Amino acid sequence: MHEMTKRERVEAAIKGESVDRVPICYYNHRHDVESSPDALLEHILHQNQLYGWDLIKVMLRASYYMEAWGCTYAFDPAQGPKLRDYVIKKAEEYNNLTKLDPAKGPFGEQVATARRLGEALRGSVPYIQSVFSPLSIAGRLAGGNFGAEDETAAIRSFMESNPDALHHGLNIITQTLVDYVRLCVQAGADGIFYTTTAYGSFDVMTEDEYREFSLPYDIAVLEAANDAGGSINALHICRENIMFDLLEGCPVQIINYEATSARNPTLKAAAQKTAKALWGGMDQSQILPLGNSEMVAEQARHALDQTQGKRFILGPGCTNVNQTAPHENLMAMKNATLEWSKSRLT
Ligand SMILES: [Zn+2]
Repeated sequence: MHEMTKRERVEAAIKGESVDRVPICYYNHRHDVESSPDALLEHILHQNQLYGWDLIKVMLRASYYMEAWGCTYAFDPAQGPKLRDYVIKKAEEYNNLTKLDPAKGPFGEQVATARRLGEALRGSVPYIQSVFSPLSIAGRLAGGNFGAEDETAAIRSFMESNPDALHHGLNIITQTLVDYVRLCVQAGADGIFYTTTAYGSFDVMTEDEYREFSLPYDIAVLEAANDAGGSINALHICRENIMFDLLEGCPVQIINYEATSARNPTLKAAAQKTAKALWGGMDQSQILPLGNSEMVAEQARHALDQTQGKRFILGPGCTNVNQTAPHENLMAMKNATLEWSKSRLT
């Protein structure tokens, strides 16, 4: 088979067609560059030169949405944004949220990043913009700390005490995100990386609760990305014990999740549940940052064997907010995939 471009390779994976080699995409936060658009762009382009992943997930600082609605953060270059103050202290305050113009403020800054990245890449690599679900944003506006135990506590109490106010807030956030993702795609992004953060897990809510407080808003944002012409939209179902069967139906082309968790479906099982492309297979918490090269290569081969390299993008199933995988492990992941593809796909 002729050598495909990165875009052709990712598009073929999405369609379930043959690929010359299995596409790979690693991503992780780099808190030290995420507060400065210039430093972030330089970092992305440097990583692109160094590793040449087939798809770029634009890693934006996790706080930008909440900054736009008035939350304040201190930026720790090692650990990322630390919440200082938040805007929703009681559920009724969701009624005060107003729709934002995403061409301005922190949203506008990310649209500009999408545009500048597109200008620098000139179509050589597809790239997707990271977007949190409205429910995730609503939780953090109410003081939920990224990755903390208490992330969902406020939402759980508002679901009981004042669901109408919560829905009002979710509607406002959704309307803003719908406009925002449209601008991102118009700026050149190939789609979005849409994450459910803590909420798409049975550990946090029931499927019925998710259907009421998240799913309609998820679908609205994802449909906007598709309608704007985004053709590479990934749904990140974060965490463990995930609602795979429910979320599989979302309008996306790719599903990214922690396939290495024993509490989530294996890649093999997930591939039987969906016709969408899967992205994952590498453990971002232990093997990638802490394992040796042989452990990384072994895990990559295991993921490739399970999927036969079909409808598949190899990479992590989530970010590791504390630790990036070392260079030799990223190269081991890449080389194992190239070797597997060479022996199994030709
Ligand atoms: Zn995640």
